Amino acid sequence: MIRANLETVSEAMERAAKRSGRQIKDIALVAVTKKVPQERILEAVACGMSSFAESYVQEAAVKVPPLKALTKAVWHMIGHLQTNKAAKAVELFDVIQSVDSLKLLGVIDRKAGELGKVQTCFIEIKVSEEVSKSGLPESELHKFCEAAARLKNVKLGGIMTMAPYFDSPEAARPYFRKAKNIFDRLGLEHLSMGMSGDFEVAIEEGTTMVRIGSAIFGERK
Ligand SMILES: *Cc1c(COP(=O)(O)O)cnc(C)c1O
Repeated sequence: MIRANLETVSEAMERAAKRSGRQIKDIALVAVTKKVPQERILEAVACGMSSFAESYVQEAAVKVPPLKALTKAVWHMIGHLQTNKAAKAVELFDVIQSVDSLKLLGVIDRKAGELGKVQTCFIEIKVSEEVSKSGLPESELHKFCEAAARLKNVKLGGIMTMAPYFDSPEAARPYFRKAKNIFDRLGLEHLSMGMSGDFEVAIEEGTTMVRIGSAIFGERK
């Protein structure tokens, strides 16, 4: 089922890329494995997947180290990260996409320094007014980037965002467009946006990295 789902997702990505005059090779697919057991993640590896994302540090602390021993996969942290879990996240993840405050970035920098690692981080930006959504407001981006440039053990590799949930993915388009505008101004490598329900619109709006869970592994219980 994973193989067939991956094929369906790749084909949809390909079509969306074509519609917008883009190439599939410029859009990274990260498989979101929260609540997915290790054996199914290994199945995805066998199908050629090499980038995975988790949302909870506690869950990842159990699942990721054995998988790291078995595969060369790259691991992304995409869930809201509390500062008291940041050190563990630096140990576990190649990329922390959910950095939404300078305080958190500072804790990550300190831990990365201790480990002799340069931690790639994405800035999670807030593009909607929803109170529940985490993310750095656009008005604080400038200050954030200036401060980040002074830290030696973190590297900004992109921005990440989530559109609010809509029944129609088309409704997410203005939020993706807003994120793409910010991305173009910052000049970072990656723009991470688009999930199972809205990745085709995100591709049309210029995402360079989609994060897809349920369309690959099935609905989460
Ligand atoms: C769970 C999650 C995803 C994947 O969601 P699906 O709808 O299952 O594709 C992507 N991004 C974030 C931040 C998530 O928490």
